[in-house]
Amino acid sequence: MTSRETELIEEQLVEDGDHERYSHYVKKDKIVESAVMGNAVVALCGKVWIPNRSPEKFPVCPTCKEIYEKLKD
Ligand SMILES: [Zn+2]
Repeated sequence: MTSRETELIEEQLVEDGDHERYSHYVKKDKIVESAVMGNAVVALCGKVWIPNRSPEKFPVCPTCKEIYEKLKD
């Protein structure tokens, strides 16, 4: 993954309805696509779901955070 691509991964989306609630990192272009098309998104950790924006703050998914930190280096 190039550094240019990692710049796109800035936004967090909330996973809703599962037993645990986390904010996951998802590429911005995928978020836009989902908003327009209603597609499911794929988080860095591999979680696939249809995002549901929420004003509530959830802890960042540990797996997403770990991958994201590596990508930033
Ligand atoms: Zn995640």
